[in-house]
Amino acid sequence: MACGHALEERELDGRPRRVCPACGLVHWENPVPAAAVVVLRGREVLLCRRAVPPREGCWGLPAGYQEIDESAESTAVRETREETGLIVRLTGLIDVLSTTDDPRKPSLLVVYSGEEMGGELCPGDDCAEVAFHSLDELPQELAFHNDRVVLERLRSGAPRPW
Ligand SMILES: [Zn+2]
Repeated sequence: MACGHALEERELDGRPRRVCPACGLVHWENPVPAAAVVVLRGREVLLCRRAVPPREGCWGLPAGYQEIDESAESTAVRETREETGLIVRLTGLIDVLSTTDDPRKPSLLVVYSGEEMGGELCPGDDCAEVAFHSLDELPQELAFHNDRVVLERLRSGAPRPW
């Protein structure tokens, strides 16, 4: 909609796309990048209980969408600070996962490991509660499928499946 003309559907690269017949603009639709951090205290993992939809009341890793001027790494550090109050340093890359069960939009979730450098546990605006949970007694209500995937793999010590 750059020139104001209405978009129409056309097949492009084998998929229906919304295209502007006047200026040629293509409305590409792609997953948005997001980042999450695994912070452990021994066998306990840092989780946030969501205070907002979707999945309000459910627990998940500190995570969020990447802003336009951020790297995935800075997103991970920022989201952890905003949601939990903890300052972390990233220590490794755990996985990159596609999220398909977020009703807002599909995302590409980069999951890092991080270690605490400071700060104090304090739930941010989007969180009702933040706490470390034993990997062996995780909350039943996890926010997203990928929270379960990452936490179950941490719990069992199973390697990545690829
Ligand atoms: Zn146009």
